[in-house]
Amino acid sequence: MPRHLIDVHVHLNNYHESTRRPTVEHVQDLFSKMDEIGIDHAVVITSYKVDLDRPSVEELLETLADSPRVTVIEGLRWRGDARSDLFSLEERIRDGMVKGIKLYPGYDHYAINDPSLESVFRIAAKHDVPVMIHTGDTYSKTAKVRMAHPLLVDDVAVDYPDVRFVMCHLGNPWFQDAAEVLYKNDNVFADISGLTLGEFEYKFERYVAMRLKEMITYMGDPGKQLMYGTDWPLVHMKPYIKLLHELELTDEQLENVAWKTATRVFKIDEGVLGPPREA
Ligand SMILES: [Zn+2]
Repeated sequence: MPRHLIDVHVHLNNYHESTRRPTVEHVQDLFSKMDEIGIDHAVVITSYKVDLDRPSVEELLETLADSPRVTVIEGLRWRGDARSDLFSLEERIRDGMVKGIKLYPGYDHYAINDPSLESVFRIAAKHDVPVMIHTGDTYSKTAKVRMAHPLLVDDVAVDYPDVRFVMCHLGNPWFQDAAEVLYKNDNVFADISGLTLGEFEYKFERYVAMRLKEMITYMGDPGKQLMYGTDWPLVHMKPYIKLLHELELTDEQLENVAWKTATRVFKIDEGVLGPPREA
């Protein structure tokens, strides 16, 4: 096991009506799973929607009450009539409550290189916070997957060189395009979250590990840009750790992918991670 482990991609939403429960119970569940598995810190991402199943960023911040175990990233709604208010977003970032922005191209019908996003990227650059981007497959039939293609991230990476971008889910299934964007741009990072749902099925786990290893061969040092993340609770935390070990990383690469790169991208103080595990 690496000395620390940071999960850079978790949610506190309800995904099934049958298991709907208050946000405070999701938080308790998150912390107990983190204890059980040895996750030192989690990056919690709010949804692009606020409804009965998706708590608002205000509600999440209140429930999490400045816990040093989590970093909060605010999901933006960029289409429709309930669009996010950039003034309040910027206030929360300025006050250090929110540590980054998440965009959901595809789910929300826009592409990441849509010119209207300039105002969002300016806020990120001004306050030096990362922009996470959903890339690749969507869990929703009403999403437009072409708009979530990872190759489009290259456009904004070039146009906004002082913004750190994080491609979520490695553009699944366009891994090769994601690898090119990562290789080419030093300001683009990626998390390896959400490459399955629930538990890994053996055949699919082999497939994903193989594709990831191909990417790493192409792009070079994975520790430079890849970060560990799950997409919990859509993905179960425990089986996902296996994926990290199947990548056959060197010790140094493993430490980077497991937590070090995340501390730099999200500016997480090493002090909040607790004592390091023995090698
Ligand atoms: Zn997610």
